[in-house]
Amino acid sequence: MIKEQGLYRNLRIISPSHTPGKSYVDGIERIMASSNNYLGLAGDKRLTEEAVKIMKEYGVGSTGSRLTTGNTTFHEKLEKRIAEFKKDEAALIFSSGYLANIGVMSSLPGEGDVIISDQLNHASIIDGCRLSKAKTSIYRHINMEDLKEKLIHSQHYNRRFIVTDGVFSMDGNIAPLREIKALADIYNAYVIVDDAHATGILGENSRGTGEHFDVSVDVTIGTFSKSIGTEGGFVTGARSLIDYLRNRARSFIFQTALPPSIMASTLKAIDIIEYSPQLRVHMQQLIRIIRNELLDYGFEVRGEHTPIIPVVIGSSEKAMNFSEKLEMNGVFAPAIRPPSVPNGESRIRMTIMATHTEQDIQQICKAFYKVGKQLEVI
Ligand SMILES: *Cc1c(COP(=O)(O)O)cnc(C)c1O
Repeated sequence: MIKEQGLYRNLRIISPSHTPGKSYVDGIERIMASSNNYLGLAGDKRLTEEAVKIMKEYGVGSTGSRLTTGNTTFHEKLEKRIAEFKKDEAALIFSSGYLANIGVMSSLPGEGDVIISDQLNHASIIDGCRLSKAKTSIYRHINMEDLKEKLIHSQHYNRRFIVTDGVFSMDGNIAPLREIKALADIYNAYVIVDDAHATGILGENSRGTGEHFDVSVDVTIGTFSKSIGTEGGFVTGARSLIDYLRNRARSFIFQTALPPSIMASTLKAIDIIEYSPQLRVHMQQLIRIIRNELLDYGFEVRGEHTPIIPVVIGSSEKAMNFSEKLEMNGVFAPAIRPPSVPNGESRIRMTIMATHTEQDIQQICKAFYKVGKQLEVI
């Protein structure tokens, strides 16, 4: 059934290339045009050297949950650092962004509360809502009229929690946080933002969606696994919120802590992001070039000025075919199909990295043009 619908999922083997911006895919070198490693930090020498140094001293694993034997000075320092970076009072690190969302959504909104969630929120938010004792109400994607409607109709609940991605992972667009916050203030709701794709990317100092719009929210969730280049998830907010989560979030309590080496290299990554804006400036130039070029060719390019550049192709089969042909032209960018995106909107979710060169960008554009003509997408 899954195979017939063109939705069968296979795994590819990815290995590093010495050329930044490229990777080996099943042994053949391609331009990597779909990684979440936006700033190219995952392979950065300064990070890997720090990780190796700390791993030699502390070992490979963390040996236990944060609440038992797994907590180190690096976990503590990183929590302080990420809170400071996000301009929040306190932070709590989870083993992944997925687990951070599960932990927040399942423990914070409770019986008698309602979660009001954007239709295109990430799967980990949806799974967290499923685990929560609160009711869930879905509003149409970034539709403020519908959000208002849902808020009006949820005044009888104890508490209201609006939850949204900051940058939507499959569409690359930015949630209208200022409008969301204004509605939350009028209708007495808390705002939770999943800033997985915005941290390190949006805002004058790369702090994320809040900084981009100059708005502060109640709960921010993030991940170290995208622009920061390492591993792990986090939540930032008021100290009382963080104390509560440390005591109630089961995906924090019952999970082995991340290795100290990863925490130490994450500290380095945040310093690089904060003190080297040139990575981001270069990436933004590349984004501008490629978006304009693809739009000129006549592609349906979604999203805004973020490293996520979704190019809508249509049916799953056509998108799969498009991706295979891109690969034959030296560009690796897999097709994204339902249920990750709606039926008929299968797409190539291309991403730009700070490690790409203008030459890489030209090669990607050429490949898109050629395959687009071949498959009559343009
Ligand atoms: C990737 C992602 C996550 C999950 O983060 P991991 O650290 O990879 O588990 C959560 N939310 C959004 C919006 C994401 O894009």
